[in-house]
Parts: sequence; C-alpha cells; structure tokens
Amino acid sequence: MSPRHSIDFCPICGGGLCGLRIYGIGENSPANTPPHGLVICDECEAIWLEPDTSTVHVYPDLENPVSPVSGEPLWGETSRWATIEDIKQLGWLDAVNRDLDVGGEEKIV
Ligand SMILES: [Zn+2]
Repeated sequence: MSPRHSIDFCPICGGGLCGLRIYGIGENSPANTPPHGLVICDECEAIWLEPDTSTVHVYPDLENPVSPVSGEPLWGETSRWATIEDIKQLGWLDAVNRDLDVGGEEKIV
C-alpha cells in the first residue's frame, strides 16, 4: 500500500516516497505512548523521526521491524499511513508535498 501523504521522494534510494505514518493508535497501542509520527520510505524503509529528510535516518531491524520511538510493530495494527487529520494532529501539515498525494480526495479543512 502506498503512503497517502508524503513529504518528498526518498534521497536514499531515489525511487520511493517518504510517506507519513502515525503510530500509537487503536485499542492495542502501547500504554502511555502518545500518538507519534514517522516518515518511512515505501521502498527502502528508511525511517526519519522528523518530517525532514535532511535529518538523520535509521533502518528498521529486518527480522523485527519496530518504531524506533515506541517499539511497536512498524506495520502493525497500531499504525497506519497518516490521513490529513492524523498529520494535523502531529503538527506536520506544513511538511506535506501535496503533489505526492495518493487518492487526492481529501481536502485540508
Ligand atoms: Zn528509499
């Protein structure tokens, strides 16, 4: 599945999209962990903790890919590709490149 909203093409692999994901959602999310965001390349899985690909990136453990912030599964049910509402909640709206949106039916309200 492609990211709904991305900030840029991936500077590491060149072909992926740096998509925004939200973590710490749903009833099985880790206790006492507020929702947080990650930027993840949908091809090489490079991870940025900030919506800025000039900052340091990390790679998940291939055997057990988890969020470097909370330790929850990188692709589990406590996360999703962020919607515009999610991105608003994260305060990352300014980082979104609307030209890279998938779907495009969502509008910023
Ligand atoms: Zn990449």
